[in-house]
Amino acid sequence: MRSLAIMLSCCVATLFAASAPAQPRETEPPNPLIRKIADEISAKRIEANIRKLAGFGTRNTLSDTKSDTRGIGAARRWIKSELDTCAKETGGRLQVAFDEHLAPVSRRIPQPTPIVNVVATLPGAQAQSKDRIYVVSGHYDSMPSSPTDPEMDAPGANDDASGTAAVMELACVMSKHEFDATLVFMAVAGEEQGLIGARFWAERAKKEGRNIAGMITNDIIGNTKGFDGTVVKNRVRIFAEGVPAVNPLPDDIVAALRTGGENDLPTRQLARFIKSAAERHVAGMQVDLIYRRDRYLRGGDHIPFLESGYPAVRFTEPNENWRHQHQNVRVEDGVQLGDLPEFVDFEYTANVARVNAAALAALALGPAAPQQVEMENLRLENNTTLRWKANSEPDIAGYRIVWRETTSAFWQWSQDVGNMTRETIVGKSKDNFQFGVQAYDKHGNHSVVAYPKPYNPGRP
Ligand SMILES: [Zn+2]
Repeated sequence: MRSLAIMLSCCVATLFAASAPAQPRETEPPNPLIRKIADEISAKRIEANIRKLAGFGTRNTLSDTKSDTRGIGAARRWIKSELDTCAKETGGRLQVAFDEHLAPVSRRIPQPTPIVNVVATLPGAQAQSKDRIYVVSGHYDSMPSSPTDPEMDAPGANDDASGTAAVMELACVMSKHEFDATLVFMAVAGEEQGLIGARFWAERAKKEGRNIAGMITNDIIGNTKGFDGTVVKNRVRIFAEGVPAVNPLPDDIVAALRTGGENDLPTRQLARFIKSAAERHVAGMQVDLIYRRDRYLRGGDHIPFLESGYPAVRFTEPNENWRHQHQNVRVEDGVQLGDLPEFVDFEYTANVARVNAAALAALALGPAAPQQVEMENLRLENNTTLRWKANSEPDIAGYRIVWRETTSAFWQWSQDVGNMTRETIVGKSKDNFQFGVQAYDKHGNHSVVAYPKPYNPGRP
């Protein structure tokens, strides 16, 4: 056995060593502009915004909308006015609006209730990219122990003033800069009533055929001390579904499953990209991929986007403390319960916002993932030939083929192939590796990876 293992490892090593032009991944230098954007995120402003949001007493979706100091109406008018102030500084490039609809009666909606998202849009500056949209959200509604109690205090400092404050900060910081693609910053309502605000937006986007190339929700990103007392300040979880939990599965996904692509669908590609961009630009933060739609018994605003066919992920702190989520504020057996600002680590929330900033900037500065990426599947052979359609952006500099062992979570090797639309990787069998293609531009920005479909006109 031992000699077999040595023999195998020797042969595997030889196989990899033979690929002289291939590079190990993660050797790209950080982009100074993305570093700068992440550095501009302020923990002080995030703290002030979380405290202000908690100060509305409750932001329950069913709570008062008339008062200027208490309830969800006051909260959303304040969020919009803050974003309007930031928009003014951009000369109107950041466009802020209420996005309102009436939710009919449902399990947690006892009477028809207006659901109002606050949406800030930063249109992309490149003609070929402005229809490519990245959405980042937090939910500004909150709940006490009962989701349908509109009167009880529900400060929701962590769930989800933390995500809302992060999104507000991202909107204000990122709108000072220009990106190729469009960024949409959303503070949504109705999350605790059943993901209603996000679902409304996602389903309308699908109906209108909008190209949501990626969606990130930030929900519960502020606590660093877990239920068991464990403190973790340098990690954040990103929940990323593999095969979409939709029935029936779209044909292109079934086709990808036939070639072992269950870990290479768009949401996992997005999550890999986010981890890579974030860890390259935010010192001391680790992004932990969780191969799961969400935590057990919980859900979030990325789910309606997933169900509308868009790649979408969720950020959440690594160690949750349920004493400070969905709890009436009270002391029980000497223990303070309730989602209060004193249990939020503002520096940590700012670091998660920096992770978002780095990921969103890298996505929106970079080109679109290549389209019509195909794996030539014409004969039995040990070479791998990929082909793809040329990107339309004017600043495209070339394409990169990436690959990894089929059991590896992350891309291990890559080869830049220049500005062409077909390339063969000699001596690397498509039977043994996962392959993908990225586009890159003249400024060194890369796209998300696209997974190839088999190409054989004779065998559809
Ligand atoms: Zn939440």
